[in-house]
Amino acid sequence: MSKHLSIDETACAGHGICYGAAPEIMDCDDEGYPVLVTDPVPESLLDKADHLVRACPEQALELRD
Ligand code: SF4
Repeated sequence: MSKHLSIDETACAGHGICYGAAPEIMDCDDEGYPVLVTDPVPESLLDKADHLVRACPEQALELRD
C-alpha cells in the first residue's frame, strides 16, 4: 500500500538531508528546499521514506495513509 509524504514547509530548514539521501523520492527546488518526486510513495520505497521521516532534524516530514 502506498502512502503520502508531506513536507511542513514552515518547519523545513532546507539543509537537504532528505533529497540527498533519497533522490528517487525527493528533489530540491531552485532555493534548495525539498520537493516530492513521487506522490504517493510506492510500497517499494516506504522503508526509505520512513527513514527520511526519522532522519529529518526539524521533524518536517510525515508519512500518511
Ligand atoms: S531533512 Fe527535513 S529540514 Fe532538511 S531539507 Fe529535508 S525536510 Fe527540510
